[in-house]
Amino acid sequence: MSSADLDSVLTEVDRAAEEIIDFAARLIRIPTVNPPGEEYEACANAIGDQLRAHGQDVQLLPAIGCKEHTPQHPRINVIGSQAGAANGPAIHLNGHFDVVPTGSGWTRDPFGGEIFDGKLYGRGACDMKAGIAAAVFAVEAIRRAGIAHTAPLEISGTVDEESGGFAGVGWLAENGLLSRARTKAVIIPEPFGVDRVCIGHRGVYWFEVTAEGRIAHGSMPYLGINAIEGMSHLLDLVRDELGPALFERVTAMPVVPDGSRHATININGIDGGQPIDGVPSPCVADRCRVVFDRRFLMEEGLERTRAEIAALVARAQSRMPEVRFSIEDRLIFEPTRTPEDAPVIGALTDAIERVTGRPAALVASPGTYDQKHVARIAGVPHCVAYGPGQLDLAHQPDEYCSVADIIAATKVLALAVVKLAP
Ligand SMILES: [Zn+2]
Repeated sequence: MSSADLDSVLTEVDRAAEEIIDFAARLIRIPTVNPPGEEYEACANAIGDQLRAHGQDVQLLPAIGCKEHTPQHPRINVIGSQAGAANGPAIHLNGHFDVVPTGSGWTRDPFGGEIFDGKLYGRGACDMKAGIAAAVFAVEAIRRAGIAHTAPLEISGTVDEESGGFAGVGWLAENGLLSRARTKAVIIPEPFGVDRVCIGHRGVYWFEVTAEGRIAHGSMPYLGINAIEGMSHLLDLVRDELGPALFERVTAMPVVPDGSRHATININGIDGGQPIDGVPSPCVADRCRVVFDRRFLMEEGLERTRAEIAALVARAQSRMPEVRFSIEDRLIFEPTRTPEDAPVIGALTDAIERVTGRPAALVASPGTYDQKHVARIAGVPHCVAYGPGQLDLAHQPDEYCSVADIIAATKVLALAVVKLAP
């Protein structure tokens, strides 16, 4: 690929600047709020129409067989593809088009897609409708520049990333649309910033602990067994022993922000005894449940993580043997890490340096995203996240994405794709 060819791709991105921002704004105006999964069909169609206008073959793919795919809230994914000169595996760009609820504290219209001061505002602006627009126009800039590419290029817009991604990327992977045979590399334009490439994430062990006691009259609590009291022993151990021990463990993966390089545990929710609202009755709490969110490091591994929790619960049990404890797994995702020599990393870091003039940084994500399905179900190890927007603005009120960053990220994606499919 000559330098003049690369320059012509960059020129096409600049020429398309207004179209790119318009398209991102149009996507923001479709309130694809998840939960419950509103307006997915409209958004899949908007992306499909744009891809068709770019001459791509478009497939709309309802997530048939997924429990999340219901008549009220259909789960519709979309894939566009552009044939390459050869018939090899594709370079695939994937973005989720669901957004989290707006929450309070907005000073802008969350679904206005308005621009103030060089920033495009709205729920999903950075996470990640700007990223989808950048991906769509990166591929289009290559076409407009008339650059022949060997590998087929694919773009998918998928649902439900914010709720686990099973009906989105998980479904594409389960149904063979993303696979080791069909897919050479995947780039997910999540908002890690224009000069950072994300190479994976920590693991998730989400579990529930139930303590069961025995009900009795509240005026004679010594005749019952209080399950909340039992649970308090476990919470003490989590706070005083497990928490500090996890803080001592630091991963070699470049997780950002720094605090998340440590192993962590969060108490997500607690429910015990009778409801606080309404008329109380004098009863000893016979049941207490707590949901925990443990983020574990690649170096810790799932088995050690689970065994450690089981041992901690056993110790709480021994402090109050009359309470019965049990553990139930709620959600498990293994950590993922892109191999260091994956060409997709080099293609992006080179492109970042060329477009921004700054060196690229490799980072890892504190939370998980759809890379887990690409790596674990599809078996495609060469997957990274790269896209415009600041990670810490995701899910916040007044979420925005800088217009200049959207254009820069489109250029980086275009150059990287050209390099991966020469
Ligand atoms: Zn996202």
